[in-house]
Amino acid sequence: MHILLKSPEITLKGRNQGDFWNQLRSNVKRYLRSWDWPSRVDTARARLYVEGEPQALELEKALETLSWVSGVDVISAAKKIDRQQVLVEGALDRELVEDTVVAMAQAAYEPGLAFAIRAHRVDKRYPVRSSEMEEWLGNALRERTPWERVQLEDPDRTFSIDMYPDGMFFYSERRKGIGGLPVGTSGHVLSLLSGGIDSPVASFLLARRGCIVDWFHVCATHLQARDFSESVVGRIASRLSRYTMCSRLFTVPYTHFDLELGGLDTGYEPVLFRRFLFRVAEELGRKIGSAALVTGDSLGQVASQTLENLIASAKSTDMPLLRPLLGLGKQEIMDLAKEIGTYEISIEPYKDCCALYSRNVRTKTLDAVLTDMEERIFGDYRSVITRTLEDVMWAEYECGKLVEIHQGIGELSRDVPLLQDD
Ligand code: ATP
Ligand code: MG
Repeated sequence: MHILLKSPEITLKGRNQGDFWNQLRSNVKRYLRSWDWPSRVDTARARLYVEGEPQALELEKALETLSWVSGVDVISAAKKIDRQQVLVEGALDRELVEDTVVAMAQAAYEPGLAFAIRAHRVDKRYPVRSSEMEEWLGNALRERTPWERVQLEDPDRTFSIDMYPDGMFFYSERRKGIGGLPVGTSGHVLSLLSGGIDSPVASFLLARRGCIVDWFHVCATHLQARDFSESVVGRIASRLSRYTMCSRLFTVPYTHFDLELGGLDTGYEPVLFRRFLFRVAEELGRKIGSAALVTGDSLGQVASQTLENLIASAKSTDMPLLRPLLGLGKQEIMDLAKEIGTYEISIEPYKDCCALYSRNVRTKTLDAVLTDMEERIFGDYRSVITRTLEDVMWAEYECGKLVEIHQGIGELSRDVPLLQDD
């Protein structure tokens, strides 16, 4: 059994295309390994294939797992016939090809549906042109199976035959993957993850563009070990790691910030809190080699996300801030959250920090005014950051599962163990 993986976006790449395929192959191996599925993964001419002999249930699990892999656009379980077997002294074994397609079509038959045959001759040494093969096999199906109606545009079922140098691939199912680029081809970012609806979507979008994503979460109290699997943010992390592949969730409590603030209620607190988030995240990001921070901001969605407030909070950090949701509306974000399965978790009750500072939020703030306030309130801001980071607890997630929990900053390393191949 073979599973074919296609990535049109990688196919568009130029001279460095090989690097993208290598990364994708290494990622696919990692996913399959994490689910204990013994198989071989190979790249060949604009596609990748997984080879193994799974039981039906394992196949279903493997297909689902592969649909999470960033960079994979289409997944098909295929039957392969080696070239030596199907080409005898340069002549095509037409009987073998026809029987294979007939068997595939019979197994997939559903009354009332229309079909199409798609042949794709990548290797021109096969002596039959694609169009000729489509016509021949289309006729064969109408004669030898209950399939009657051909529909070339938008058919209900497509039977595909790909002719590659190593053999012919026959398949009918085309399962959609998430597309995009393989994780590990676009650098490393630290994504600010709340328990809300937006920030998980922002993380997903960056992973789908090939970033290695780690998360930073600030909460009211220390997380307990079990929170990494049971709390809202822990479950969001687990779920998201289906797509981000390898991610670490770093959490710190905001007690030091809150103590210094001493119950102040001026309406500036949400923006002061955002600046605190960015400063601690920047410090952490430098330690783990992040090139940028990511937020789930959407322009004008809430008071802390007016253009003025976004600018004033961004002034607190030198690290580039990426806001992939900036131009999206709430409904669009919610639709995406539902697709990736974080929405249902995000709407559960969770004590959001920003709910603490919600009365009369200032919608227009200025960096100079905020800097002034911070000097008066915090005095030595650096020490607030240092003390906050000392309380860090973090966990590793891989391919949809929590792997390990750690405590303290001492164990942190810049290396994300991602790019090695085996
Ligand atoms: P979200 O749905 O992502 O929580 P929101 O609409 O609630 O967003 P805010 O609370 O203003 O908006 O947060 C804006 C962004 O700031 C979030 O998308 C997230 O990236 C970051 N953020 C907010 N709260 C936290 C937190 N407790 N820890 C880490 N990041 C946070
Ligand atoms: Mg929020």
